[in-house]
Amino acid sequence: MCSARSEKLFGYTGKLLRVNLSEEKVLVEETDTKVLRQYLGGVGYGAKLLYAEIPRGIDPLGSENKLIFTTGPMTGTMAPGAGFAEVCCKSPLTDVWCEAKCGGEWGGTLRKAGYDFLVIEGKAKRPKYIVINNGKVEIKSATRLKSKTVSQKNELIKKEIKDEKFETAVIGPAGESLVRFANIMVGGRAFGRCGAGAVMGSKNLLAIAVKGNGNIPVAEPERFRKAVRAGNKKVLDATNGEGMAPGGTTGDIPSCDGLGDIPTKNWRSNSWGKGEELYAHFENANLLRANSCYKGCVLRCGRIARVESGKWKTPVHEGSEYESICAFTFFVLNDDMDAAVHATYLCNEYGLDTISTGGVIAFAMDCYEQGIIYREETDGLALSWGDAETIVELVRRIANRQGIGGILGEGTRRASQQIGKGSEMLAMEVKGLEGPAHDGRSGKALAIMYGTANRGMCHIHPLEGMAYDSLKNDFGLVPFGAPDPETIGNHSEEGKGKITKLLQDFGILPDILGICKFYVYNGLHLPELAELISSLTGWDIDEAELLNIGERVYNLQRMFNAREGVRRKDDYIPERARQIPEFGEHSSVEECEIKEYDQMLDEYYEARSWNKETGVPTKEKLQQLGLGALAKL
Ligand code: SF4
Repeated sequence: MCSARSEKLFGYTGKLLRVNLSEEKVLVEETDTKVLRQYLGGVGYGAKLLYAEIPRGIDPLGSENKLIFTTGPMTGTMAPGAGFAEVCCKSPLTDVWCEAKCGGEWGGTLRKAGYDFLVIEGKAKRPKYIVINNGKVEIKSATRLKSKTVSQKNELIKKEIKDEKFETAVIGPAGESLVRFANIMVGGRAFGRCGAGAVMGSKNLLAIAVKGNGNIPVAEPERFRKAVRAGNKKVLDATNGEGMAPGGTTGDIPSCDGLGDIPTKNWRSNSWGKGEELYAHFENANLLRANSCYKGCVLRCGRIARVESGKWKTPVHEGSEYESICAFTFFVLNDDMDAAVHATYLCNEYGLDTISTGGVIAFAMDCYEQGIIYREETDGLALSWGDAETIVELVRRIANRQGIGGILGEGTRRASQQIGKGSEMLAMEVKGLEGPAHDGRSGKALAIMYGTANRGMCHIHPLEGMAYDSLKNDFGLVPFGAPDPETIGNHSEEGKGKITKLLQDFGILPDILGICKFYVYNGLHLPELAELISSLTGWDIDEAELLNIGERVYNLQRMFNAREGVRRKDDYIPERARQIPEFGEHSSVEECEIKEYDQMLDEYYEARSWNKETGVPTKEKLQQLGLGALAKL
């Protein structure tokens, strides 16, 4: 993608760095201003590149797949929550669209080094890592990094480069062993969920270190500064001036348990009743302090934790956020919080996605209980619910693909296909992605979101439906057509398809712009985003255009999936995730049952102007979004 630029570009470096590992070639390209104007950046520009550059049906772990690191126009600027980069590729876990977001300094540093986007293609013959030092790019031998954990790799790289100022994105042993849900790690934060770490491993690329001293040009600096101040004030006011520092996301465990929002025992229930007790232990024994993933954050959701002594002694580290802790407690009925903290720490060191790891272990325990797998097939491990030692041991085996870890490292869907014997009914996934720690039975917009999210059963890409349904967060969307959530029951099904469309078109914007999702949960709404992006880029972008860009990107990603064969049949949610919970506080609440999922899906397709039979965007819709050329798949 390259065109001569006739006018100065604000809000971007205007450069894309392309590294071909097969040929060890490095190329710098100018980005296309017209494409930037239509897609802005992040997962938008990433979708445009991926759709154009990889053919249908390729092997996600083959050299034809590309790893496309993207930033948004706000990444690395003063904008509220602007510490985010994304990576896009074809997922080895789902075989469809993969996007993964990561907070920290890495994305902003990439831009300060001079690049908005970094495309990795091909496959190195031997292990390599890439060093980007402002304009200079080197591909170096990574033989010494092989099989090392994430923190060991970071230490070795810093020693070798002899410069502490580099920011690193690395894979752990799980990425090297091609675990299909391996992450790319930036410190204690992750490009997580759909296996981008395995794609990086398949390219024999173990790390990318970046350092940069440049600046992002701002079109109207004073107006932008004012918009930044107003945005930060709004999110701080919305959180009583404290941000998310007091509880982070982990602090939501007791309330989500009470709401019936945490899948428990492989989704047999949506609550356990142990949320308060578990969190009390975490707060008293494990939590040291709040943390932020990058310097400018005013919300500070991060948790610095440890296990001081005992069997699960664990060093001080960043992690233990809501999803990870739920995955190693509620999912698997483990009430040993120290063991859960240890398991999340190990996942970060091995470079494993915590949600998928907890999900696939819950699946295995369910199979064991149901007599689908036996001790002879588990290398002698009794996969009993809540057995902390087994859980931690399985994390290790999955990361290294040892014994039963080999099958489980394929992800729940593939594992159930290999195991057979009815285990498919216990596989809690959509499009191959394991479900996270929120439950659509307590807020039905989330159910339709799980079925239709482009990367699979994800709660946050693009947005948490239950935040609207159960927590009554309207995201400032009432003036744009969303019904006031206070007027809608969380268990009602009517209207949820329609609202999901709007929540998705809005919720994808932080992933396009390069900002943190928690800021849009706390007051950074369309008017604030429009003012920030307009003053940054000098382009006049209003709220309606932002929603239109969100819709365009969402449809382009859907077309990527449709080209890979995704149709209505793939927009399901697992049967168990629709049924009345088998036990727990909500087992007597009949309204938990999702009765008319197909009708909700019809309503969603209608709102999206997608064909109701196939689930493919109509030609008219594609044309309206400027995507008419994709109408012929
Ligand atoms: S709220 Fe959390 S994820 Fe968001 S920018 Fe701050 S520390 Fe990072």
